[in-house]
Amino acid sequence: MAKAHTNARTTVKRLPEKARTDIQTLHAVLDAGRVAHVGVVDHGQPIVIPVAYARDRDTVLIHGSTASRMFKLLESGSPACITVTVLDGLVLARSLFESSMNYRCAMVLGTSTRLTGQAEFDALQVITEHLMPGRWDHARQPSPKELKATMTLSLPLTEFSIKISEGPPDDFEGDLDSREGKTIWAGQIPIYEQLGVPIPDQFVPQGTPIPDYVAAWKH
Ligand SMILES: Cc1cc2nc3c(=O)[nH]c(=O)nc-3n(C[C@H](O)[C@H](O)[C@H](O)COP(=O)(O)OP(=O)(O)OC[C@H]3O[C@@H](n4cnc5c(N)ncnc54)[C@H](O)[C@@H]3O)c2cc1C
Repeated sequence: MAKAHTNARTTVKRLPEKARTDIQTLHAVLDAGRVAHVGVVDHGQPIVIPVAYARDRDTVLIHGSTASRMFKLLESGSPACITVTVLDGLVLARSLFESSMNYRCAMVLGTSTRLTGQAEFDALQVITEHLMPGRWDHARQPSPKELKATMTLSLPLTEFSIKISEGPPDDFEGDLDSREGKTIWAGQIPIYEQLGVPIPDQFVPQGTPIPDYVAAWKH
């Protein structure tokens, strides 16, 4: 297992009580998300691009087109910042200043390694199974031509920060005590991500049941 590592540039300074530093929490946040925002600098200009990802032990895996500017930059050794955010709720405080969101957020810094051969094939399986559990064995697997068009990268979970915001609003005492404050509703509105009911495409013969592994996903 890679050594967990939080350093000067990954130490949370604003609201440090929301910071976590253990790799188990990092794993849990990464396992809960589906989209990572990958930041990289291209000729001095930061670009941040959302991609699908998965965690594999102490690495995070991403894949994309070999023609992608971002993937080419990452392959050539450009440092990356990968951020995953799971939004858990709206926090309605009595003041707008204290109103906020509840979230689990992880940020990973590092440089990528391109995976090839069996390692790439295995990584694509991990990404598929993270996003669509059971699908790898029930869809056509990548052809050599498709693999050639795909770049799969791995980043170690060695330099990271985690920030978790949870719980009720943290109102100023003045707002709790004031006449106006006592009239203002405050609390949390949880946000849940929900999968909808599966909709077969037009080529699925009528009456075909939804596959068991899809039916097992939470709808
Ligand atoms: C869904 C969501 C909405 C947010 N909305 C706002 C907003 O509207 N305004 C606002 O000011 N802030 C918001 N935040 C918090 C924001 O992400 C920063 O944590 C905060 O602004 C402090 O920034 P800073 O530059 O002072 O960071 P510092 O605390 O100085 O950052 C130092 C280091 O801490 C780590 N770090 C900082 N923030 C995070 C994070 N969120 N997750 C993981 N690691 C982190 C990084 O490694 C960074 O290099 C939001 C966060 C989330 C997840």
